[in-house]
Amino acid sequence: MPRINPGKKQPKLHPDLKTLKRLLGHVELDDSGCWIWQKYKDPDGYGQVKIAGKRLSAHRVFYSIFKRSIAEGDEVDHICENPACCNPMHLKRCLPDYNRAQGGRNSRKNITDDDLPPF
Ligand SMILES: [Zn+2]
Repeated sequence: MPRINPGKKQPKLHPDLKTLKRLLGHVELDDSGCWIWQKYKDPDGYGQVKIAGKRLSAHRVFYSIFKRSIAEGDEVDHICENPACCNPMHLKRCLPDYNRAQGGRNSRKNITDDDLPPF
């Protein structure tokens, strides 16, 4: 019988104070409440950050620090639709399968964490 192998859960990030201050120093608040990542962004506009030698998406890092842990396959989506935004209150976790079932990318903005199936 095939073994079901769910997405590997990543531990919630607990950065030290120095790292946390560094991360927060790289965002600027705009008029809409977005925390705009000021450092390197990928071609799609998503902030990139290097932590412990690993390149990570800045918004995923902020989500994991301030909200909860995410699995590798989970997508963290922007409610504000600004890819450079790292404000945890503007981010929500989407499970890819759930996303597809809901009709794809354009329907994501209507999904909240409360709509998602439990971990
Ligand atoms: Zn935002």
